[in-house]
Amino acid sequence: MTFLYHADAERGMEWAALFAERAPDIGFSFQPHETNPADVRYLGVWHPPADIVTTYPNLQVLFSLGAGVDQLDLAALPSDLPVIRMIEPGISDGMAEYATLGVLALHRHLLSYVSQQRRGEWRGIRFGPAAGLRVGIMGLGVLAHAVINRLRPFGYVLSGWSRSAHQIDGVHCHSRESGLPVFLGQCDIVICLLPLTAETAGILNSTLFDMLPKGSALINCGRGDHLVQADLLAALESGQLSGAVLDVTNPEPLPANHPFWSHEKILLTPHIASMTQPDTAVDVVIANIRRHRSGTAMVGLVDRTRTY
Ligand code: NDP
Repeated sequence: MTFLYHADAERGMEWAALFAERAPDIGFSFQPHETNPADVRYLGVWHPPADIVTTYPNLQVLFSLGAGVDQLDLAALPSDLPVIRMIEPGISDGMAEYATLGVLALHRHLLSYVSQQRRGEWRGIRFGPAAGLRVGIMGLGVLAHAVINRLRPFGYVLSGWSRSAHQIDGVHCHSRESGLPVFLGQCDIVICLLPLTAETAGILNSTLFDMLPKGSALINCGRGDHLVQADLLAALESGQLSGAVLDVTNPEPLPANHPFWSHEKILLTPHIASMTQPDTAVDVVIANIRRHRSGTAMVGLVDRTRTY
């Protein structure tokens, strides 16, 4: 019975050491070519190899090594193969830090100061109190909860939008398409923390931007395909949006001549908002393997109908 870590060898070695220390009873490998495929019961992947079912005939659980599963072709996987996405404290902490960084950067005009510094310009820009700034989060899942908990002490006015109705202390919650216009109308900064699905692809477009108050700002920590790039450029040009913090793009990286690279109102980071941290992720995977072996429900099971 083996867990095969089918991704980069560098982190694979870290995972191997942690598995050996914390779960010596569970076989572990990060070297597909040195592993008997018939022994593989559990497979951890970013991008799975083609034909996993034929290659690993005894596979029982597929683990995504990241929080999202949009990189997997779920429709091509057997419907009875459980797919587990990564829910682990390291990812949540990383995302809470990044979203806070983005909100503070926008609130305190950091993008303008970076441009001013390049020009040798010393000019203060007025800012208001956090309690006067409305921050809204699209998606109210695991990562959004971590972000909310980290933002709350600053005193921002928080709201959120999701598919199903939620109740979160101190957060104005909205749901479904019908709740979107009211939600957006109350956002000075909107953070996208949605999974990428057929329903959410291209959701950050000019129609949505037009529902935001003029001069609001965007943080996209979801996926590059949530954003219609030309619509963002137009909204920044017209002043409908005042700035954007983008951690994800399509493609990644963007081509060298892409306008986002040098845009004064865009802060671009290379998909580093959050990362799976081996030290905490290994515990979560081991616990799920033990749950699977004892026949209890695993944490992070992907709903194959919703696709997240
Ligand atoms: P969850 O599945 O826990 O939460 C997803 C949230 O989005 C839920 O609240 C869900 O609503 C909502 N949602 C889904 N579809 C819709 C829709 N059509 N309309 C409205 N709301 C919708 O995901 P996580 O919080 O763990 O992760 C979110 C995403 O963050 C990942 O899928 C990934 O793309 C991205 N990510 C980015 C990283 C980075 O470094 N940039 C790192 C890690 C993740 P409901 O609650 O009703 O189900």
